[in-house]
Amino acid sequence: MVQVTELGYIGLGVSDIEAWKHFAGDILALEVVDEGEAGRCYLRMDYWHHRLVLHADGADDVAYLGFRVAGAVEFDDMQRQLASAGIDYRIGSVAEAEERRVLEVMKLADPDGNPVEIFHGPLLRKNRPFHPGRGMHGKFVTGERGLGHCIVRERDSDAALRFYQALGMRGGIEYKLDSGSQVLQLRFMHCNKREHSVAWGVGDPAKRLNHIMLEVDNPDDVGLTHDLVRAARIPVAMQLGKHANDHVYSFYFRSPSGFNIEYGYGGRDATQQSEYYDADTYGHEPESGGEAHLAPRHPR
Ligand code: FE
Repeated sequence: MVQVTELGYIGLGVSDIEAWKHFAGDILALEVVDEGEAGRCYLRMDYWHHRLVLHADGADDVAYLGFRVAGAVEFDDMQRQLASAGIDYRIGSVAEAEERRVLEVMKLADPDGNPVEIFHGPLLRKNRPFHPGRGMHGKFVTGERGLGHCIVRERDSDAALRFYQALGMRGGIEYKLDSGSQVLQLRFMHCNKREHSVAWGVGDPAKRLNHIMLEVDNPDDVGLTHDLVRAARIPVAMQLGKHANDHVYSFYFRSPSGFNIEYGYGGRDATQQSEYYDADTYGHEPESGGEAHLAPRHPR
């Protein structure tokens, strides 16, 4: 079976691209690259030409998720794999591949309609080292783990599981959370050492995108970012805390598009055996409309 190897890039539709440039560079420490294309700018985390693309289309939601396969052979094999799973796809034109700075791309959608792209051969600008938008203690954790992870809306969780399994991903239920009115079952999928690259199951949200997680290799960068978020009075959706599943120490705050960014440190490798949790390890208390069900209730 062919497997996608990483969540390589994400496109975002935004309404206020100037606010996003400030947020990305000065708060998130991403490198903001404006190549003069109308209504578009690129955000870097490493040598890749980009990891995130901002499109000024007013959507304030995810525009596409880009999953990588190893090369041209796997790109061809993936087409047969999708066809046998009954999943429609379209091979992108040369111009569409060039637009994404990849060698080849195909376009499809997951069962909730989230636009998905499968590609190989991203452009790496080795002559242009990553230059963070503001000072960092360390660097972003990318490499074979991809850019981070995201949580998206999937109103049919079983259909979503079948779709992402058809992309060669593994995973399943990792949290059962009592929200008061229902028990939420959150599913997490991995395709490399990162504990999860895509997940779903947080209720029935208005937006497709719940959050994007970016990981840093120095915990001081979580603390610095927390200071900058508080100083800028950006709403914090979940306070500092540690996840039970990926062990990430993180907090969540609101992007200019309304969905959240999780900024974290310390993710463990994906586990090879399933297990689940009913709360996080500590912290992650909700604030400013964040989800309340992750925070543990410690016995006294
Ligand atoms: Fe997360």
